[in-house]
Amino acid sequence: MSGLYPQNDDVQRVRDASDIVQVVGEHLTLKPKGREYVGLCPFHDDRNPSMSVVPAKQIFHCFVCGTGGDVLTFVQKYHSMDFREALEFLASRANIELTPFRGRSGGDDDGPRGVGNKEIIAANEMAAGFYRAVLSHPEHGEAARAVIERRGISDEMVERFMIGASPDRWDGLVMFAEKRGVRIEALLGAGLVKDRERGDGQYDALRNRLIFPICDQIGRVIAFGGRKIAEEDEPKYLNSPETAVFKKSTTLFGINHAARAIKRERTAVIVEGYTDVIACHQAGVEHVVGTLGTALTSGHATVLRRLCDTVVLLFDGDAAGIKAADRAIEVLLSETIDIRIAALAGFTDAKDPDELLKREGGAEIFLRVIEQSVDLIKWKFDRLREELKGAGPARVTQRIEEELNRLSELGLGELEPVRRRLMIRQIAQAARVEERVVTEAIRTGRGRRPIGASEGERRVRGEMNWKPDAREQLLGCLLYDAKLWTLMNGEQRELTSLERFNSTLSRSVAEGVHGSAENGTGTGLHAVLAELAQIGEERGEDMLDASQRATTLFQTVARDCEGIEERVTRLFNECIGSLSARDARNRMEAGVVDDSGESEAQKLARFLAGERESRSRTGVGGRPRISGE
Ligand SMILES: [Zn+2]
Repeated sequence: MSGLYPQNDDVQRVRDASDIVQVVGEHLTLKPKGREYVGLCPFHDDRNPSMSVVPAKQIFHCFVCGTGGDVLTFVQKYHSMDFREALEFLASRANIELTPFRGRSGGDDDGPRGVGNKEIIAANEMAAGFYRAVLSHPEHGEAARAVIERRGISDEMVERFMIGASPDRWDGLVMFAEKRGVRIEALLGAGLVKDRERGDGQYDALRNRLIFPICDQIGRVIAFGGRKIAEEDEPKYLNSPETAVFKKSTTLFGINHAARAIKRERTAVIVEGYTDVIACHQAGVEHVVGTLGTALTSGHATVLRRLCDTVVLLFDGDAAGIKAADRAIEVLLSETIDIRIAALAGFTDAKDPDELLKREGGAEIFLRVIEQSVDLIKWKFDRLREELKGAGPARVTQRIEEELNRLSELGLGELEPVRRRLMIRQIAQAARVEERVVTEAIRTGRGRRPIGASEGERRVRGEMNWKPDAREQLLGCLLYDAKLWTLMNGEQRELTSLERFNSTLSRSVAEGVHGSAENGTGTGLHAVLAELAQIGEERGEDMLDASQRATTLFQTVARDCEGIEERVTRLFNECIGSLSARDARNRMEAGVVDDSGESEAQKLARFLAGERESRSRTGVGGRPRISGE
């Protein structure tokens, strides 16, 4: 790349203002370890903290799955954003005003009907604005405001949760969007409008409802929930359909306002409805989120276990609890998180948290209910005993065995050893049987899951087995210590020329190194990451994988040389020595060479090697090392 990129300044400012430990720490729990921080890697199914964040270098890296990069890479990966979105996200977090972007036309990742995620979110945000305007409209918002007042929702909460109202007509949003020049395809993609079954045109999906925008962890509106205003309307609650940006099974209502408190309390409380979540936040209990009319899924658990280690499921009454508990046990056996059950019944006659929290002293009772929550397994067996009250001992034993077999079928036997042992002890205590009985039940129960590594695990292992060759190590040295580049002569720099790399990813890293060397920012990791991001933006390509490869190369050198400068220099010299010798030998053996210094035979070999790599990348196995490199 030649010439300075006009927005480089912005990128630098945003990077400087966004400490990686803070930003990553806002998304998951980090613990200090020496000069680094470690946490559960959100990019693979991590059971032990394998992701490290290095404050001195402002990078993160997972040695198991190879994901890594700088603060912008992290945000891009975590939120599936493109570079520009990640930049905007971090800029607004740091209150930095960006120079307006003259974006390339199109290039958005197109979903159905040619609508990208960004366009869907923009349509949702437009709609949220519309619904809020309707709510404050003297006439059209009157009925909705009456509902809000009846439910005792404060103005502050209306503001915080961006509550709105949809008008009592079928074309309010359609017309508003038309005036704003929003494409109908975007509204359809967001599930905000539907095609008329007869005739042309579309109608609003949410009519005459109190509107609760549903946001992701960083507050982007990804969907809406609508509560009926008129008695005669059905159903009581209506959600947006699932879209490219909205998956019910991983979405938690209120997560954008609750994440901080969940991390602080190391606990997430899950309640049933929108108004329950809002009532909790209004009462100052902020580690509370809601599922959207579904039981707890492992998708929810994955999101939450990055923030905390305990989930409390709060049910209004026992009936709902019993139904949801079985699903929760499946989650318990697939995710490393503790699940507890709490029920209002027995503490208060209030029918839901909303009602309880509006009463004098309600918040204290609510917190007591949470505090006295019961471990899921214990709760389950307590229920069972209650149900079997008066039954003979044979019947009790039989039911307990059935229950143990079921747990076994759900995967109890396949937990990793430490967790399995803990669970067995816990189950034995809850069921009041000897541990031996539980172990026996696991052995006789049929395991439902296939034995052996999952596809994800195999992919992870493949990446783990990947080792850089000498040429890639040389890149790593240049990324680690930018001054090494200035010590190289032309011939030595040639050793890192693009066509000499077999791996497409490493070739991209080399391109970043050359680009940042040319534009004077140096070959250090951050300059190269910036260069790669810029190349990506200009070409409309995703350079994330290359950024990760660069970080891996950097970290490999850092670890191998234990961060000692002299050792990096020694490695650098060794790489140059062996590569120079090898390249000279190859040239001699190959005979005929063109001005790129490469023979036809070598070109062919490289071409084949490139082919082989791109094919192996789509497979599940590890990346093969190409011999001769
Ligand atoms: Zn990982």
